[in-house]
Amino acid sequence: MNPGRHRSWVEISLGRIAENFQAVRELVGPSVEVAPVVKADAYGHGAIEVSRLLQSAGARWLAVSSVEEGVALRRAGIATRILVMADFLESEREALFEFHLTPAIHSLEDLAVLDRMAADRGVPLPFHLKLDTGMGRLGTLAGPEEVLAALCGVRAARFEGLMTHFASAAHYASGQTERQIEAFNRMLARLEAAGLRPRYRHLGSTIPVAYARREAWGNMVRPGQAIYGYISPVRGTTRKPVLGVQPAMQWRATFLEIKDVPEGMLIGYGGMFRAPKPMRIGILAVGYADGFPHRLSNRGRVIVKGRYAPVVGAVSMDLTTVDVTGIEAVRGGDHATLLGVEQEASIDAQEIARLAGTISYAVLCGISSRVKRIYL
Ligand SMILES: *Cc1c(COP(=O)(O)O)cnc(C)c1O
Repeated sequence: MNPGRHRSWVEISLGRIAENFQAVRELVGPSVEVAPVVKADAYGHGAIEVSRLLQSAGARWLAVSSVEEGVALRRAGIATRILVMADFLESEREALFEFHLTPAIHSLEDLAVLDRMAADRGVPLPFHLKLDTGMGRLGTLAGPEEVLAALCGVRAARFEGLMTHFASAAHYASGQTERQIEAFNRMLARLEAAGLRPRYRHLGSTIPVAYARREAWGNMVRPGQAIYGYISPVRGTTRKPVLGVQPAMQWRATFLEIKDVPEGMLIGYGGMFRAPKPMRIGILAVGYADGFPHRLSNRGRVIVKGRYAPVVGAVSMDLTTVDVTGIEAVRGGDHATLLGVEQEASIDAQEIARLAGTISYAVLCGISSRVKRIYL
């Protein structure tokens, strides 16, 4: 699309995102609520556009990391419930009320503060209490009796959800997930015995959904990467994902120049690559400032006219050089595909991550705002 009109752009298929969301819903069934995760600008796909699409596809909940992300969605007119998962700053408490955001509360002290604020306003602020069941990050470590006492003391806030998050969902052999599920269920049983049954009970993100680990679903799931078409591989099991999703994003960049260089020519910063023979080099208008990892220097590849073209030399801030020797048809103004499919060739975020020594999430989130988003 628009070859030559942008230096670098991503094409995002909203249809794919809707299909992926639908696939998750069908897998978990009607008794499990799906709260798609649209944090980090919807993993680089554009939080507002993606949230509008998900809302119109029937999502009743969306999950973000910060109050700021939640406020941006409200300002764009998103009316679904919004769960703020990664805590809030003192200065942001007020906005939880003003913008009808639902906080995940990670400490019993915060619970008391928000309860007081809710009482002062006469507003029944719903909240989800997050347990640290063994991840060692956010969430309360308080035991069942302490949590029960705190919840019994709540006057105006409304205990709507109990949640936790897994540290090692991808490591089936570790036993950590089983222990986390047990700790969660112990807390839930204690609260229920005292007559406190939260409307939502949730633990899992993409992996427990995709690998059908039902005991980790509760009655709400929080898929992020699956919505964008990715499922990470797991270890320690022969299980395969039962969820079918497809990547929604393709990333392209325009060739500024195509040039023939003589044997022995050094290419780019540091002379990291020396042409072993006369070569044709394509100079792409994309670099690490756009999120194309510097670690792909001399080791990544892109797709040009349906064929793989290796990255040669250093990826620089704004430019990347690739070997297009033998790809006769390519001209300045044509594009290369950095992520996506062209004819028989394809490159996904997991391949880039492997070559760059990172994870697919970081590749997607790393595509910078300089890269134009185009919605299909
Ligand atoms: C990011 C996040 C998710 C989504 O994770 P995916 O692996 O992308 O599905 C779910 N829950 C919490 C608490 C998160 O931070």
